[in-house]
Amino acid sequence: MQTLIEHARTFHAKITDKQQEFAQPAHGQQPQVLFISCSDSRVIPSLFTGARPGDLFEVRSAGNIVPSYRPQAACAVAGSIEFAVQALRVPDIVVCGHSHCGAVQGLLREQSVHTMPPVHRWLTWAGYRARTDEPWPTRGIGENATAATQQHVLTQLDHLRTYPFVARRLDLGRLRLHAWYDTVETGEVLACAPGSRVFKSL
Ligand SMILES: [Zn+2]
Repeated sequence: MQTLIEHARTFHAKITDKQQEFAQPAHGQQPQVLFISCSDSRVIPSLFTGARPGDLFEVRSAGNIVPSYRPQAACAVAGSIEFAVQALRVPDIVVCGHSHCGAVQGLLREQSVHTMPPVHRWLTWAGYRARTDEPWPTRGIGENATAATQQHVLTQLDHLRTYPFVARRLDLGRLRLHAWYDTVETGEVLACAPGSRVFKSL
């Protein structure tokens, strides 16, 4: 922690030659993309996208889960999506999964999260259940961790489409959805072409 504190303490002095870059977004943000990724410390979207201040509107959650639209539920992910789409009018949304995702491991092996009730409950929103009374949302996800993670990302895109304001802007052609996969050990980022379910190098 001390290294991080030290960096934060001296950060402003280190960017004095980039004042314009940092000051410009202070007048109002117009991010290029809503970027939804996992809370995992190994996933650093600004690092592999080269994003600068103001580029990414980020939502991070355990397992980059986007719950299906539930208008009555207080949900940080849903509220952030609504703000990005309705107020900021982002033209693109990326959902980015990653290799070695603990949340997907939890989905594959329910017993591994039994002692963590909030995590267990959160994972139920990953949503593979045909009916809500099915015991665990892994139906159809398979056992292969990479394939399961990529399928999981595509499912979260399906959930995004249940948000009325997302669906509306998709219909208008003013919004695009992207499925990405970050290979944390190599830095290679894969993406799934529209209409496909196969992830390939960007
Ligand atoms: Zn993860």
